[in-house]
Amino acid sequence: MALKLDARIPSGPLAEKWDKHRFEMKLVNPANKRKYHVIVVGSGLAGASAAATLSELGYNVSCFCYQDSPRRAHSIAAQGGINAAKNYRNDGDSVQRLFYDTIKGGDFRAREGNVYRLAQVSVDIIDQCVAQGVPFAREYGGLLANRSFGGAQVSRTFYARGQTGQQLLLGAYQALEKEIARGGVTMYERHEMLELVLVDGKARGIIVRDMVTGEIESHAADAVLLATGGYGNVFYLSTNAKGCNVTAAYRAHKKGAAFANPCFTQIHPTCIPVAGEHQSKLTLMSESLRNDGRVWVPKKAEDCGKEPKEIAEADRDYYLERKYPSFGNLSPRDIASRAAKEACDDGRGVGPGGRGVYLDFADAIKRLGRSAIEERYGNLFEMYQRITDEDPYERPMRIYPAVHYTMGGLWVDYNLMSTIPGLHVLGEANFSDHGANRLGASALMQGLADGYFVIPYTVGDYLASNKLERVTTDHPEFVAARETVSKRTQRFLEINGTRTVDSFHRELGKILWDKCGMARDAKGLKEALAAIPKLREEFWRDVKVLGTGEGINQSLEKAGRVADFLEFGELMCLDALHREESCGGHFRTEHQTEDGEAKRNDELFAYVAAWEYAGEGKPPVLNKEPLAFENVHLSTRSYK
Ligand SMILES: Cc1cc2nc3c(=O)[nH]c(=O)nc-3n(C[C@H](O)[C@H](O)[C@H](O)COP(=O)(O)OP(=O)(O)OC[C@H]3O[C@@H](n4cnc5c(N)ncnc54)[C@H](O)[C@@H]3O)c2cc1C
Repeated sequence: MALKLDARIPSGPLAEKWDKHRFEMKLVNPANKRKYHVIVVGSGLAGASAAATLSELGYNVSCFCYQDSPRRAHSIAAQGGINAAKNYRNDGDSVQRLFYDTIKGGDFRAREGNVYRLAQVSVDIIDQCVAQGVPFAREYGGLLANRSFGGAQVSRTFYARGQTGQQLLLGAYQALEKEIARGGVTMYERHEMLELVLVDGKARGIIVRDMVTGEIESHAADAVLLATGGYGNVFYLSTNAKGCNVTAAYRAHKKGAAFANPCFTQIHPTCIPVAGEHQSKLTLMSESLRNDGRVWVPKKAEDCGKEPKEIAEADRDYYLERKYPSFGNLSPRDIASRAAKEACDDGRGVGPGGRGVYLDFADAIKRLGRSAIEERYGNLFEMYQRITDEDPYERPMRIYPAVHYTMGGLWVDYNLMSTIPGLHVLGEANFSDHGANRLGASALMQGLADGYFVIPYTVGDYLASNKLERVTTDHPEFVAARETVSKRTQRFLEINGTRTVDSFHRELGKILWDKCGMARDAKGLKEALAAIPKLREEFWRDVKVLGTGEGINQSLEKAGRVADFLEFGELMCLDALHREESCGGHFRTEHQTEDGEAKRNDELFAYVAAWEYAGEGKPPVLNKEPLAFENVHLSTRSYK
C-alpha cells in the first residue's frame, strides 16, 4: 500500500514559513507538560540537545544510549566546525546564502522549506552554545573566529581547534546532566533499543536490552524521538565510531517508518588511506585542513614512487585548483572525492597501493609560519603523525576518500515526524536537509537545530493535537515486541556456526564499497543485489555468536547490528539502482557529462525516494515525495 507522504511544508514566503508555523502550531500549557513522557533514543548532539531542552520545558524525558556515558556519543569525534550565517567576517554571508549553498551543495535534492529554516536557526545555535561556555576560537579583538569549508566562498564555520564536536557535546551534555540531576531526565546508559512499539498505529514506546545485565526492558511514553546517528558503518570501514549502526532506524522502518534516499552516502575526500586487511576503522583528517593544505598528485605516473620533495613544482598536478579554479581545494566533498579517485585510477596515486593523494602544507607554513599552522590544526597533525609515523609539517599528508556520513535516513516531515505518528527523527538519523551531498560543518548545525530549536516546538504540537490514551508496558503490543527481541537474541546464540560476525560485516562492506561506493553502475548494483541475500542466508546459518544473553556480550550486540546491515545494504543498492541519474554523492557512471561530472535528471528524479517495508521476503515499495523549487533555479551545479 502506497504511503501518503505529506511533508507539511507551511505555505507562504520562504523566509516567513517557520515563524508562521511556530505561531500556528499548538502549544502545551506549561502546567500540563509534566503530564507527558517523551523517550529520546540517542545522546549525541541531536539527542542530548533535544532531551535537555524538552526537560527544561517541563516534559518528563527518558534518554537512552548504548555508550557508558552520553558524553561518548559519536558526535564527540567531529573535528572541523559548525556553520552559521552570522556574517561576522562581513564577507557577504546571509541566511539566504547559507540556504542557497546548502541546496546547491546537496545537488538540488533537499526541500527548500527545511533548508531555509536550518539556515535561519543556525545563528541561534551559536548564541546558545556560547552561553553554555563552548570555547569557540576567537579573533584578536574577541569576536568568534571563522574558517571556510567546502562548497562555500565565505568563512562561516565556527570551530574549537580540531575538537568542535567534543566541545559542542560537552555543552549539550552539561545541559543534559543538569536536567538529570533535577530529575527531569532519566538517563539509561548502556541500553540498546531493539524494537519500537506501536499502539493504535502510534509510536508509544521501545524495547531495550540492558547491555550490562542482559535484561530486556519495556519503556512506554507519549512520543518517541530517534536521534541514533548515521549508518556509514554498513560499509564496515568508515570514519564513524565502531558502534554506529542502523538498528534503531531499521527496526522503526520495519514497523512502518519510510526510509528516504538510503543510497545517498558521503565519501569524504580527506581520510588516512587504508593500510591493510587488518584494519577495522578509518580516520578522518578534517576538511578544515583544506583551508591551508593544497591537494596534488604527480603529473607523471613514473614520479609516484619518488619522495614528494623531489618532485618539482612544474611536475605536480594541483588538480582541484586546475579543474575548479573558483573553489579550488575547497570544492565540495563529493567532487573532491571523485577527483582523487580519478587521479588514482589514472595511475598517479601515491603511497602503498597507489591509493592516496597529497595534502601539502609547505606553502602555508612558508606564508604563515609553523606556529600558525600548529595553532589551527595542531591536534590533527599530531593524530596523523601518530597513525602514520610521518611528520606532516615536513612531508605532505597522504589522504584518500572514505565513507563518512549518510544523507539518507528515516523520512520526516517539516515537523521531523516520520510516517509513524509520534515517531520523530533527529540529526543524522533523518534524511532531512542535505539532499544528495552534505556540505562540511553542516551536520553539527543540523543536529543542534533539530534538538534545540525545532523539536521543542513540533513535539508540543503533536502532543497537544493528539488524544493519547494512557499506555502501560503490559499492553499486548509491548508483550509481543519483547517476545520478538527475546526470540531473536535466542536465535543468534543458537546458530553456533563457524564464521565470526566481523567476517560477515567485512564481506558486506566490501560488496557495498565496490558496487555501491564512490561510483556505481547498474551491472555492479545488480551483482550486489544478488550477493547480499546469499551472504545474509549464510549469516543466519553459519554465524558464531559467542557467550550468553545474560550480561555483557559484544558479539551478540554486533550480531544484531550486522543482521540489520545485511538487510539494509540491499535497500541501499535497490535505491541506487532505481535512481537513474547522478547527483551529489550518488554517482552512476552511466550518467555523467563529457568532463566526468554528475548528470542529474530533474525531469524524472527531482523527488525524495521514500521506501516502505512490505514484509519479510517482499520487495520494498517505492514512494515519491516530489521536490518543488520555487525560490532557487534548478541549475547544473558548478564549482569551476
Ligand atoms: C570523524 C568525524 C568528524 C566529523 N566532523 C564534523 C564536523 O567537523 N562538522 C560537522 O558538521 N559534522 C562533522 N561530522 C558529522 C557529525 O559528527 C555527525 O553527523 C553528528 O555528530 C551526528 O550526531 P547525532 O546526534 O545525529 O548522532 P550521534 O552523535 O552518532 O549519536 C547517536 C546516539 O544514538 C545512540 N544510539 C544509536 N543507536 C542506538 C540504539 N539502538 N539504542 C540506544 N542508543 C542508540 C548512541 O548511543 C548515541 O548516543 C563528523 C563525523 C565524523 C565521523
